[in-house]
Amino acid sequence: MCGIIGYVGNQDASKIILEGLRTLEYRGYDSAGIAVLGDAGIEIRKDEGRIEEIDKKVKFGKMGGNLGIGHTRWATHGVPSKANAHPHSDCKGEIALIHNGVIENYRKLKEELLKKGHKFTSETDSEVIAHLIEEEKGKTFEERFLSALQKLEGSFAILAIAKGEKKIYGARRSSPMIIGAGKEEMFIASDIPAMLKHTKEFKVVEEGEMVVLGKGECRIIGIDNGKERTRKSFTVNWSAQSAKKDGYKHFMLKEINEQPKCVRDALASDVSSAAKLVASSDDLQMVACGSSYHSALVFKHLVQAECGKKCEVCIASEYAYSSVVGKNTCIIAISQSGETADTMSAVRFAKKKGARVIGITNVISSSLAREADECVSLNAGPEISVVATKTFMAQLAVLYKLAYEIGGKKDMIEKLKDVSHSIELALTKQGEIEKLAESLLQKQSFFYIGRGLFYPIALEGALKLKEITYLHAEGFAGGELKHGPLSLIEKGVPVIALAPNDETVHKMIGSIKECKARGAHVISISDSQEVKKESDECVMVDGVDASLFPFISICVLQLLAYYMAAKKELDPDKPRNLAKSVTVE
Ligand code: GLU
Repeated sequence: MCGIIGYVGNQDASKIILEGLRTLEYRGYDSAGIAVLGDAGIEIRKDEGRIEEIDKKVKFGKMGGNLGIGHTRWATHGVPSKANAHPHSDCKGEIALIHNGVIENYRKLKEELLKKGHKFTSETDSEVIAHLIEEEKGKTFEERFLSALQKLEGSFAILAIAKGEKKIYGARRSSPMIIGAGKEEMFIASDIPAMLKHTKEFKVVEEGEMVVLGKGECRIIGIDNGKERTRKSFTVNWSAQSAKKDGYKHFMLKEINEQPKCVRDALASDVSSAAKLVASSDDLQMVACGSSYHSALVFKHLVQAECGKKCEVCIASEYAYSSVVGKNTCIIAISQSGETADTMSAVRFAKKKGARVIGITNVISSSLAREADECVSLNAGPEISVVATKTFMAQLAVLYKLAYEIGGKKDMIEKLKDVSHSIELALTKQGEIEKLAESLLQKQSFFYIGRGLFYPIALEGALKLKEITYLHAEGFAGGELKHGPLSLIEKGVPVIALAPNDETVHKMIGSIKECKARGAHVISISDSQEVKKESDECVMVDGVDASLFPFISICVLQLLAYYMAAKKELDPDKPRNLAKSVTVE
């Protein structure tokens, strides 16, 4: 949610920042802006819209400078507009500031600043920070910046530059921020891919810390006491290429096609310590949002049905309202970015009550990875498309492995080695799925049904479709249709049935018949000839172990959603109103 980047060094800052913003655009894309420090002071260029459109108008890359900051916004306070776009300034135009997050006490601060005569030009919460720094007393900019930070409530990743200061000042609380260290130059951004082209060496800015970056300077300071802290750097082996499209029309399609490799890499993660932690507690709970919530439901099914271990799953933003949690609780928290605010808030709530936490995340430098007692890495590499595909698949892979490890099912872990081959089989169906998508373009409403393990897959398939095509799509447990949703079925309504040849098959055939009797157009995904016979259309994928069929089904559903969005000329990588890494609650 919102991307920020800063650069200080000897190269052309505006070019590096523009390039970084393009990589970060998946985090927010309603407006963007850059500020650079030149001899005459600070220059800001910004506007509403996508980066490429704005760049055509304002020519970001021609701003020059050796020091600057850039922001791509996902609005929380104030409509997307030029005035609300970041960077924001103080009254004199001597400070430029960008912010990711929400300043919860901004109203009170703004009222006080207005009384003192400050003039505001935007509706954002972020602008108060620039005026607050302006108002602060202190000898140096660093002192003023620090004392302004101490007055802020809420979440923030902030970067600020000031006239006459050859430095970037940054701070974070509950929003991600990583420093990239180069030779005689420093980078700082919300996410690693924005800096990969320039460095592979990084330092994490932790909760409640401020940073001062200069050409040969990188100081990390505690916001609470102003004391310097040391920080080890870490290196990543992601290539800059992994954040490029590689000839695919969209990142989403590229990422779907990367899934066989992703599950291999995910299965290389060690889950033994996490399994021990689960075994040592008698109350297992999971918290997650969106697609991660669906993968948690898959895990619940596996661990309960196959291993006999009771497990609760809760939508992270609901967790604090009704949870019963204590010292015997083990929480599994799942978040691709490891920064999802709702998930982190549930994790912190549970930790306060004494629970122990297993984090499952794709970003090993993230808050979740650092705050969890045990962390399992998804190893999926950067996911640029806003919608989760390869990281959902990687979550399934590590969660299957974890469930089987908990249940001591070594033979099942062995079988997981075939999963990447199974996904390859599903990927061979791309042409057929593209044609199917073409035939469904006029439909307005879609129903997805599945039983057992396939109920969460039905939910995830429906979520993919609604996220990127903006069509109505709902997932149901097959048995639930007759308890209400069946009234929505009429002639020609597409029902997508996940009906593998397992213990659910006969009941699924029953659900298919119920839908067909009401005129539905049933499209099944199956390996059963009988299901094929009962359906109007069937994507047949056979020769795969039944336990691995969820991987196949979701791959088919991802492709179906992708081709429908692409044929409608919608951008599946940047769906409206959504952004990756949701760092606000
Ligand atoms: N709250 C700020 C705004 O609405 C920052 C949002 C963001 O994280 O992009 O401008």
